[in-house]
Amino acid sequence: LTGKEPADVIAGVLGSVKVAQALSQPVAVRDTSSVYDTIVTMFVEDVGTIIVVSEGGFLEGVASRKDMLKAAMTGKNINKMPVSVSMTRMPNIVVTHPEEHVLQAAQKLLSHQVDALPVVVSVKTDSGEKLQVVGRFTKTNITRLFVQLAGK
Ligand code: ADP
Repeated sequence: LTGKEPADVIAGVLGSVKVAQALSQPVAVRDTSSVYDTIVTMFVEDVGTIIVVSEGGFLEGVASRKDMLKAAMTGKNINKMPVSVSMTRMPNIVVTHPEEHVLQAAQKLLSHQVDALPVVVSVKTDSGEKLQVVGRFTKTNITRLFVQLAGK
């Protein structure tokens, strides 16, 4: 026996695993994509949140299922509607980075009441500092980790 409370053990393990070890590949569309194409990508890639990027893969926004549902419910032509009018855009995106501990990232998901966080690294470009998208961290990643930690 270690003499530690179970909660300390869990916090210790979760606090030591980094986002880099638990993330998924990013599923992204360009900011010039239509709402229609974004919805198709959601189905084809089987994800609930699409990351929207500019040329070069820099973070521009996030489009959720309900964002797309709301856009479709306007009755306007979603083939001609750019995703950028219906997404949540920078600088209002909550992000994580590969070196962050999963516990911190999980707390962000909860406190901001969102399903997914883009995983980003900061890069210097001619037009200033930008966030390059390298992954996606979701509630599914936490569930997977939870099951793995149980050794199942
Ligand atoms: P849904 O809208 O399908 O319930 P979410 O709960 O993830 O999915 O999203 C709720 C709202 O928060 C949406 O308007 C979405 O654009 C926005 N959102 C989703 N993820 C993020 C994020 N990482 N940072 C900021 N806003 C986000």
